[in-house]
Amino acid sequence: MVNTTIKTTKSQEIFASAQNLMPGGVSSPVRAFKSVGGQPIVFDRVKGAYIWDVDGNQYIDYVGTWGPAICGHAHPEVIAALHEALEKGTSFGAPSVLENVLAEMVIDAVPSIEMVRFVNSGTEACMAVLRLMRAFTNREKIIKFEGCYHGHADMFLVKAGSGVATLGLPDSPGVPKSATSNTLTAPFNDLEAVKALFEENRDQIAGVILEPVVGNAGFIPPDAGFLEGLRELTHEYGALLVFDEVMTGFRIAYGGAQEKFGITPDLTTLGKVIGGGLPVGAYGGRRDIMSMIAPAGPVYQAGTLSGNPLAMTAGIKTLELLQKPGTYEYLDKITQQLSDGLLQIAQETGHAACGGHISAMFGLFFTAGPVHNYEDAKKSDTAKFGRFHRGMLERGVYLAPSQFEAGFTSFAHTEEDINQTLAVAREVLSSL
Ligand SMILES: *Cc1c(COP(=O)(O)O)cnc(C)c1O
Repeated sequence: MVNTTIKTTKSQEIFASAQNLMPGGVSSPVRAFKSVGGQPIVFDRVKGAYIWDVDGNQYIDYVGTWGPAICGHAHPEVIAALHEALEKGTSFGAPSVLENVLAEMVIDAVPSIEMVRFVNSGTEACMAVLRLMRAFTNREKIIKFEGCYHGHADMFLVKAGSGVATLGLPDSPGVPKSATSNTLTAPFNDLEAVKALFEENRDQIAGVILEPVVGNAGFIPPDAGFLEGLRELTHEYGALLVFDEVMTGFRIAYGGAQEKFGITPDLTTLGKVIGGGLPVGAYGGRRDIMSMIAPAGPVYQAGTLSGNPLAMTAGIKTLELLQKPGTYEYLDKITQQLSDGLLQIAQETGHAACGGHISAMFGLFFTAGPVHNYEDAKKSDTAKFGRFHRGMLERGVYLAPSQFEAGFTSFAHTEEDINQTLAVAREVLSSL
């Protein structure tokens, strides 16, 4: 069912009004479609693998509300659990047993986590973990990687210029130099660069934070030995290793990248999937480190809505659904079918492309590759990606509106959805 003349009149009207009400018309920048051109569609409802816009058009969705919807949108069991929880109230601001239940599930699932603190977003989890890293080591510098995203807190808004500048320069006005002066950056997959930073800053580096599989510069997996190397270097220099698994947690394996690759960091941040579509983030790790968090210890961190009963309920039900045998095998199978299919079609239609997948996360770059880091990713033909994105959208496939975002599948996606997506991709790529 190919429809290249979809009507989006209502979407356009609503987005036009939104632009007078909210900066750029959105509540978060990438949603505005700036990097692919054209106008965003305005959603009306979501269910399973599909979304519907306000004009009534249906799309197969590979954004999954940026990751949380791994069971498919509005899973009936999640919705039923939320209805029940809603009757008991929307917020307690006090302990509830639901926090214990989700905490136990997270501790059982994620190898590094012995204790956990719930917050409301991935950004919050990363901010808190940074304070904790610094407090525990009594050191102020951190290493992050070019192209990795750890939320929008000042200290992380640094990408550092083309491999030269390792001293953090802020990415956004309003971020004081002092906020990023302790943020050192290295190219992803470059152990030598990390070692050099440790040598130049002996006894000053609190830790290394990374997306163990990058999703925020497009999909970039770690090279063989990279995560192991970071584990060794951090041990050698007395620093902490932090996996930001806000995206990969419960997505590339139930226990995240640390389970998948068998590397256990000291601390981990989580978000997205653990909230099952409601706002939840979390950070956790070694008991001796987590015991420094207030009120057990002196490191302050708090939240009015943290541990919210509705959010805990959606998280618990989502993780329960993910525990069903065969879930990750299925996710891997359909995502491989999609990823292999896209690469093959790109090749047959004469486009330089590379990409891959791990479980329910995938990516496609319009460059011959290989892509090992953000510099490589930036060689992609982003104008072509914009045309590809628009072509797919007009034919009922909703992809993340940027070359530098990973794609997500869910266990609501069927083989038929994948085949239809590939048929659409063939038509679009043949026309580019
Ligand atoms: C999405 C994301 C964040 C930020 O989470 P929010 O809930 O959007 O604040 C942090 N780190 C990674 C790896 C992410 O993908």
